[in-house]
Amino acid sequence: MGNICPRLWEYLKPCLPCFVREAGKPVAPEVTTENAESPCPPEAPRPRGCYFVALFDYQARTAEDLSFHAGDKLQVLDTSPEGWWFARHLETRAAGSGQRLEGYIPSNYVAEDRSLQAEPWFFGAIKRADAEKQLLYSGNQTGAFLIRESESEKGGFALSVLVEGVVKHYKIRRLDEGEFCLTRRRTFITLSEFVSHYTKISDGLCVKLGKPCLKVQVPAPFDLSYKTVDQWEIDRNSVQLLKRLGSGQFGEVWEGLWNNTTPVAVKTLKPGSMDPNDFLREAQIMKSLRHPKLIQLYAVCTLEDPIYIITELMRHGSLLEYLQNDAGSKIHLTQQVDMAAQVASGMAYLESQNYIHRDLAARNVLVGEHNIYKVADFGLARVFKVDNEDIYELKHEVKLPVKWTAPEAIRTKKFSIKSDVWSFGVLLYEIITYGKMPYSGMTGAQVIQKLSQNYRLPQPPNCPPQFYSIMLQCWSAEPRERPTFEALCCELEDYFETDSSYSDANNWVK
Ligand code: ATP
Repeated sequence: MGNICPRLWEYLKPCLPCFVREAGKPVAPEVTTENAESPCPPEAPRPRGCYFVALFDYQARTAEDLSFHAGDKLQVLDTSPEGWWFARHLETRAAGSGQRLEGYIPSNYVAEDRSLQAEPWFFGAIKRADAEKQLLYSGNQTGAFLIRESESEKGGFALSVLVEGVVKHYKIRRLDEGEFCLTRRRTFITLSEFVSHYTKISDGLCVKLGKPCLKVQVPAPFDLSYKTVDQWEIDRNSVQLLKRLGSGQFGEVWEGLWNNTTPVAVKTLKPGSMDPNDFLREAQIMKSLRHPKLIQLYAVCTLEDPIYIITELMRHGSLLEYLQNDAGSKIHLTQQVDMAAQVASGMAYLESQNYIHRDLAARNVLVGEHNIYKVADFGLARVFKVDNEDIYELKHEVKLPVKWTAPEAIRTKKFSIKSDVWSFGVLLYEIITYGKMPYSGMTGAQVIQKLSQNYRLPQPPNCPPQFYSIMLQCWSAEPRERPTFEALCCELEDYFETDSSYSDANNWVK
């Protein structure tokens, strides 16, 4: 900032916390007189760095945080609390309503003002299939559109538009001079200009651009509040148990309400099912794992029995029940591949963090609104106190992890990310059969014996060969020969691109 003019410097000073960050964390763009934006107050340029726009509505959960609506402007005053920034509301309507004007906000709910990310039509690096999914939600009408980063071309963009129930995709070309265009006939300096032009006239597009695609997939904040980032042993009286959602081997799961404001899921553990110290050690890691396809651990109550594990709430419960309930009447291959791809994406993140799930199965995947699937219960199997007899019960045909567990993990009791890949193959079987019990009619002992003779689950009826081939790769006898989750994720995300019978679905407009 050596050559910044003194008047601008005076104006920037209050914003300084935005630019002073710990090493390794993202740094706001450097403010120069070139990129400072229009004046506010009149004669002083308004720096972009600390002004943000809300991407989604947020309802305050504690007395210290701030409610806002999508589109509201906020000035961020402090970015040091990770995931929760301290901000000031700049909307006069909030001031008028007697609402709090300063407080904490979840940082993943805002984008820098006047940046591409703040545009309601910019959806970032989403896949084409995801763009179609989002545009096809009810609520969007012909003309609804979004711009996304191109999957195939680094630095490129694509426009996806809904026309009469079909999604069309256009490559936005970038000329050598940096302009954006669909054809050289008409070029634009910025994507905003591009959008503004095609919302006025169709000019060769299949339809004039209408409203931006609705952003229905609201991200969950990573914590209950800025306080529970570090203090996540919370008072159990702050959690009300409202409705029992289900039960498992080790306890019950309840829908709960934290601080009278925030819906959560509460796992209540049977006394003695784990050593609180072992659990806390594991929970420390679980809490730090953050990915949109993993159930977020929010907080725990371990000081007395029953231990509470407080997590993100998923409205549609377990994938196993979800598959069984609809039994193919509503769920089709595109959705089944999407489920698999989302789970693989969460698992690829665990793989990148050198973390092992140990109990991956459809019962441990949860279903949220708008076809969101997330991996739950990762790492918990490690801390549950179980008799090996219980887990590896071999005599009866009951729902036991043995049918999901890789043979080498059963033999040596050592789990690895590659034994998770084996389980993922069994999960694919559950997905494609709408939640059938794998190795139906066989006991655990029979399964183990048959697997050692190279037997594998047969290709289920209606399972495409391409899908079955992925399952077989996961069941390679040699763990090293099994694919990585990263490779599985790519393969599943591109599933329909490599299948020529689906090439029409690409809908690229030349
Ligand atoms: P196991 O104990 O053998 O792992 P499980 O995974 O089915 O079996 P739980 O994890 O205790 O058992 O979950 C029981 C049920 O509670 C699930 O099947 C699901 O329907 C519901 N459930 C669990 N976690 C959540 C959540 N975060 N949101 C909504 N529902 C949940």
